[in-house]
Amino acid sequence: MKSSPFKIYIDRLKNDDTETIHEIVDPDFLQENENEPIFAQKVTVSGQAYLANHHLILDLKIKAIAQLPCSICNEIVETPIEIDDFTQTVEISEIRSSIYDFASEIRDAVLLKLPQFIECHHGHCPHRKEVNKYLKKSAGETYHPFSKLNLSE
Ligand SMILES: [Zn+2]
Repeated sequence: MKSSPFKIYIDRLKNDDTETIHEIVDPDFLQENENEPIFAQKVTVSGQAYLANHHLILDLKIKAIAQLPCSICNEIVETPIEIDDFTQTVEISEIRSSIYDFASEIRDAVLLKLPQFIECHHGHCPHRKEVNKYLKKSAGETYHPFSKLNLSE
């Protein structure tokens, strides 16, 4: 397991302190397997952590840039993912060691935020006309970006 830049040392917060978080980290932690989208640029996580009523509270903003294929022509599009209001509340008794690692929570939040439809050239994919018929036909279906990948496993 890679070491995580996202660790809160609970003991340090026990004197009513608020820990300010400002991390600019490599995006490796967002990618646990090859089927996931590529994040080629640094990820910014900022905000604060504090204790309140036997809970650890995280209040964060997350910024990342995903490289996703255009849904029409597959050209890679850099897609900013910004989460302004990520909050996480954890009961302190549930934290087994005195260190809380929230890397996987950040990861889940970012992956959930990925748009399901990407179009290159700022929404004007040059190949759109060729596939318009197809798009209309399947408009009622929900698009699952990872379902194809899961099938081939
Ligand atoms: Zn395109």
